Amino acid sequence: MSTINSDAVIGVIGAGTMGAGIAQVAAKSGHSVLLYDAFEGAAQRGLDGVSKGLNKLVQRGKMQQTDVDALLARITLTDSLEDFTPARVVIEVIVERLDIKQSVFAQLEEICAEDTILATNTSSISVTAIGSKLKRPHNLVGMHFFNPAPIMKLVEVISGLDTAPTVADAIYDLSSRWGKKPVHAKSTPGFIVNRVARPFYAEGLRVLQEGGADAATIDAIVREAGGFRMGPFELMDLIGHDVNFAVTSSVFAAFFNDQRFLPSLIQQELVSAGHLGRKSGKGFYDYSEQAEKPTATTAAPAKAPHHVTIEGYLGVAEPLVALIEEAGIKVTRVQEGFGSILIGDTTLQLTNGQMTTERAYNARNSNLIHFDLALDYNKATRIALAPAVQTEPEAILQATGLFQAIGKHVTIIDDVAGMVVMRTIAMLANEGFDAVNQQVCSEADVDVAMKGGVNYPFGPIEWSKVVGLSSIMNVLDNLASSYGEDRYRTSPLIRRKVAGGKHDS
Ligand code: NAD
Repeated sequence: MSTINSDAVIGVIGAGTMGAGIAQVAAKSGHSVLLYDAFEGAAQRGLDGVSKGLNKLVQRGKMQQTDVDALLARITLTDSLEDFTPARVVIEVIVERLDIKQSVFAQLEEICAEDTILATNTSSISVTAIGSKLKRPHNLVGMHFFNPAPIMKLVEVISGLDTAPTVADAIYDLSSRWGKKPVHAKSTPGFIVNRVARPFYAEGLRVLQEGGADAATIDAIVREAGGFRMGPFELMDLIGHDVNFAVTSSVFAAFFNDQRFLPSLIQQELVSAGHLGRKSGKGFYDYSEQAEKPTATTAAPAKAPHHVTIEGYLGVAEPLVALIEEAGIKVTRVQEGFGSILIGDTTLQLTNGQMTTERAYNARNSNLIHFDLALDYNKATRIALAPAVQTEPEAILQATGLFQAIGKHVTIIDDVAGMVVMRTIAMLANEGFDAVNQQVCSEADVDVAMKGGVNYPFGPIEWSKVVGLSSIMNVLDNLASSYGEDRYRTSPLIRRKVAGGKHDS
């Protein structure tokens, strides 16, 4: 691998949302940057945007004016690709069209040195396909930044079929020295993040479609129990439904209509109606000035129980026991049993991916209530409960009172298999393991990518190991059996790890 030092010239083509930010990142690390855009005035607009953003940092005392001036002085605008001859690396950040990207790289091959690294910031086009028209496809690599480029840590370094490993390694190393967290990935649809993230949106949409809860309630559960910064609906509204639906549809098509990636009819309807989210003023939420943001459905206060019995081990939900004791509720523990909290004849169990109603029927236990997964039961401020159809109202009140006594808001959702957080995490982990199984990337890189690219509070693979891989497999198998859909098939890698007893490696 040849190291790209900070005295190397970096070329950036395209000065829009991403290109300007990438030019800023390179210049911040000391490189001379050439910035080109095909449309008149666009490069200057991009540079003005960088300058405005940096000035804000000066005002907030986060950067010195002299450093800003030096950084900006290292960015040179050019109106000709011919000026890219001295560039050691050229990063293409233009319109997402295969033919146009291929033509720009073909021109660069004529202008730049034989060993100039050509990098593309494409988010959805095959790096292999872009390279197919090049004389030196081994020099082409994906360098996928996330928006906003100066802030988001992740860079996916994508190797096409012909990318030289030394080229991918040089870009990985360069990204690290730019303060980024790079990961290696193979050129496959969605790379890592845009593939593994699909269930975050899709499972929320499925729960909504089945009437499990409304959008505001699902968002609150995902934030307050799941620990995510935003719920799926507020995030889709922010991204824009046209963009989010297009990514899902392109990944679905690129995987030859694999049901795992099936787009949502609800989202298609929003796109058809022009309800694109924040940018159009309406999506799942109404952003007009007079509109009130809907709040999550929260259960009314109920009486705390005096005594609970814990049967067996609660697994990932074990911290609940200490919280119940701290709330002054008497706890009796018995070793036998499969992880239940009993309040009289009411049974609470962590969801196992079955509908509560089905599990209650099989167990001949009519007062069964499922509770949802939380990232951290100590810190969660909300817990969702899903009673069975046959559960008595009094049992629901007892379960509500118990969780309220330990300081949680309680949301009662309809009986949807796998509830909200559990099915989302199980499917995120499933997709992560599938990517690993298909040799796209390593397990560690799935977690780095999801934390650095989309701010997940915890990597889906490390999270699945905390829950227990056999429990995750059980949830997935139960989802598959509830729905009878190929979408919920368990990754063979999860099955192999569980069978091999290597749950945590
Ligand atoms: P953008 O529309 O904001 O900017 C693209 C810029 O490229 C424009 O200034 C345009 O004038 C210029 N351009 C178009 N064709 C050109 C050409 N032939 N030669 C030179 N300049 C040309 O787009 P963007 O959001 O910055 O996206 C650019 C690329 O980055 C796309 O491939 C996109 O998929 C990818 N990407 C975008 C995001 C994002 O969140 N916006 C994130 C990661 C990757």
